[in-house]
Amino acid sequence: MHAVAHEAANLLGVLFRYFTPIRTRLCGNARGHNRVNIAGASIESAAADIGAVDSTEADAEPSTSRRPALEFAPGGTLEGVMMRDPRYDVLFEPVKIGPLIAPNRFFQVPHADGMGYAMPRGMAKMREVKAEGGWGVVCTGYCSIHPSSDETPHLTATLWDAEDVRAQALMVEGVHRHGALAGVELWYGGAGGTSYSTRIPPLGVTSVPVAGHQPLQTRAMDARDIRDFRRWHRDAAKRAVEAGFDIVYVYATHGYLLDDFLSRHTNSRSDSYGGRLENRVRLVRELIEETREATEGACAVAVRFRADEGGGEDAKVEHEDRCEMFSLLAELPDLWDINITDWSLELGSSRFVKEAALEDYVAFAKQMTSKPVVGVGRFTSPDTMVRQIEGGLLDMIGAARPSIADPFLPRKIEEGRIDEIRECIGCNICNSQSMLGAPIRCTQNPTMGEEWRRGWHPERVAHKGSEAGVLVVGAGPAGLEAAQTLGQRGYPVTLAEASTQLGGRVRAESRLPGHAEWLRVHDWRAHRLDGMPNVQIYRSNLLTAPDVLEYGFEHVAIATGAHWRKDGVGRWHREAIIHRDLPQIFTPDDVISGAKLSGPVVVFDDDRYYMGGLIAEALRGDGLDVALVTPAPRASAWSEYTTEQERTQGRLLELGIDVLTGTTLEDFDGEGVDLACVHTGRKSRRAALSLVLVTARTPNDELYRALTADADALASAGIASVTRIGDCLAPSTIDAAVFSGHGFARELDAPDPGSVPFERERPTV
Ligand code: ADP
Ligand code: SF4
Repeated sequence: MHAVAHEAANLLGVLFRYFTPIRTRLCGNARGHNRVNIAGASIESAAADIGAVDSTEADAEPSTSRRPALEFAPGGTLEGVMMRDPRYDVLFEPVKIGPLIAPNRFFQVPHADGMGYAMPRGMAKMREVKAEGGWGVVCTGYCSIHPSSDETPHLTATLWDAEDVRAQALMVEGVHRHGALAGVELWYGGAGGTSYSTRIPPLGVTSVPVAGHQPLQTRAMDARDIRDFRRWHRDAAKRAVEAGFDIVYVYATHGYLLDDFLSRHTNSRSDSYGGRLENRVRLVRELIEETREATEGACAVAVRFRADEGGGEDAKVEHEDRCEMFSLLAELPDLWDINITDWSLELGSSRFVKEAALEDYVAFAKQMTSKPVVGVGRFTSPDTMVRQIEGGLLDMIGAARPSIADPFLPRKIEEGRIDEIRECIGCNICNSQSMLGAPIRCTQNPTMGEEWRRGWHPERVAHKGSEAGVLVVGAGPAGLEAAQTLGQRGYPVTLAEASTQLGGRVRAESRLPGHAEWLRVHDWRAHRLDGMPNVQIYRSNLLTAPDVLEYGFEHVAIATGAHWRKDGVGRWHREAIIHRDLPQIFTPDDVISGAKLSGPVVVFDDDRYYMGGLIAEALRGDGLDVALVTPAPRASAWSEYTTEQERTQGRLLELGIDVLTGTTLEDFDGEGVDLACVHTGRKSRRAALSLVLVTARTPNDELYRALTADADALASAGIASVTRIGDCLAPSTIDAAVFSGHGFARELDAPDPGSVPFERERPTV
């Protein structure tokens, strides 16, 4: 280590141990900082004081003997700023929905959770937490009414029998406990189902192939099937009443059965349910009426409906006969939930779609009905929300993702804590999970999906279990999350970061095209840390093992991230293929740091998520001739789970980037690449002066290995634990790094949970 730096590090060690922050009271958005500069090292200490405990009420935790019975502690609520801005009063007006009153305008629309029938307790607790966080209406995800409506591998809720009623009642009770209304989205898949689990062919308007690549078709419904289907829907509605639901949906969009009845593109029936508009609308009309009868005035009836026929460009609304259709039904339900055909726009990632993108689509509805209208738009700004209401576009602010990223969003607006909102970054990792048949997760909110099985609450953590000091090395998503959660728990925390800025990979990646919103992962955490006097932040501090030993913190978290490999090892090649150390070989780390490349460039993408496509786009933006080569069948293949694949490939092609799929890289000599077809092995050569390898990443775990190699040194330094977290442990997505940092902080002093660190929901045996 450089002598001056060593001296500085020694001094830092002293400061680490004896630095006492200057406490000042934080008011509103003001932030206090106490900055000291030593030998070029910027030492920044948050000197603001977090206010008194927000809420210490015991959470209704699932009973588990394994979880530590610790009391709840400071929740990050800033003292003295508990007043709502009157500008947002309109958001807190009650709304009449049929026979019921929603307490405010915040409406968690139905969204999949990947838990469905398999994890009812997890689902119930997750939805309950949203009600606790102030959402006035909280709905289920899609809820199958009959075994022939099955979308395996996606997990849906079910209301097939009495046992399902008990399972759904768990959620209703939880939601009601906090004064919110509970809604259920009754669902029949039709050509949007698979029946892989139940093996009962889905009913369809006609017999057509089901969505995706599944090799099966629907069974065309005859008159008797339609009667059966209506009965199934009625029976499910009655079960919804038994479960205690307040709002029952007729789900007539998203390419499922009722949508296919409505659309002239999919309904070619020649009976009284097909052909002219009145006939196509008939089934939905009957279901609205029958749901009302079945629920006997106990519930409001909502209809989920799409505003367009699809096929147009973004923001060019093609209502076609939708308005006429709507006019036939306008006053029948108690609430309209309006969305659109294009899932990649409705559930658009922030790379392609910004907040409130559906305004033009949904505007027609309120002109045509006196019933309340709810719509979505990844709303995280209360000002945008107010604009929806005051502009006459919506009556209720619909949200799936904003409620996932911050279940307490309404309460934070209500309590004047807007800068505490954990804003959705629009990455769609939440959606990817349900697409993959896995429980929901979220990049911004590591507690999402863990409310029941791990007992994690998005706002509350257990008070520290000891006075031990914790050193967190690295301030990427993992380190930031670990530091802020430990800080919230009251631990004395020191966060050391090698670079001048916090954020790690999320700061770097937010510079890529369309990814600016991803910086919110840093922003929310940095803001939280700003308000924590017990957390000291040291930038420009590249720590070595001797530094860490010298400081002697009791616990050390190594969150030093990972770097991209330069030898070609990834999914396709398990052994290195690049053996020359050429300066024309780059990785995403180099490109993001501003390396100058010469064209033509080949980007070899064997990572297959967003990075390869983004790097290609960025380099093309610099005017270079770019080709993207990938062994996968499509560009950025994994991003199909985040709704981005088609838009990504479309954009690459539009930009004039050559996309070579099913192709692998074999070598690069500085003038060209040797390629091979993954199907035939046929070789080809392509001119390239630069190569960017987007393959695998290597953990930056030297520090961890150096420290753990010498147990005696750790013991004599008083270090009880050294833990790798985030990409340093296992390179993955950003949500995994945040989750890892959060878990470390939560469980630092928890008893050993054994080999299964969470509660499981088991089938009844
Ligand atoms: P993760 O996604 O796991 O949080 P990142 O790569 O985003 O990982 O962040 C790792 C951070 O750790 C980067 O900001 C990097 O500058 C920092 N870092 C890496 N090594 C050290 C070190 N030895 N000392 C301090 N900071 C480090
Ligand atoms: Fe938003 Fe991403 Fe969280 Fe989904 S996973 S709610 S898109 S931050």
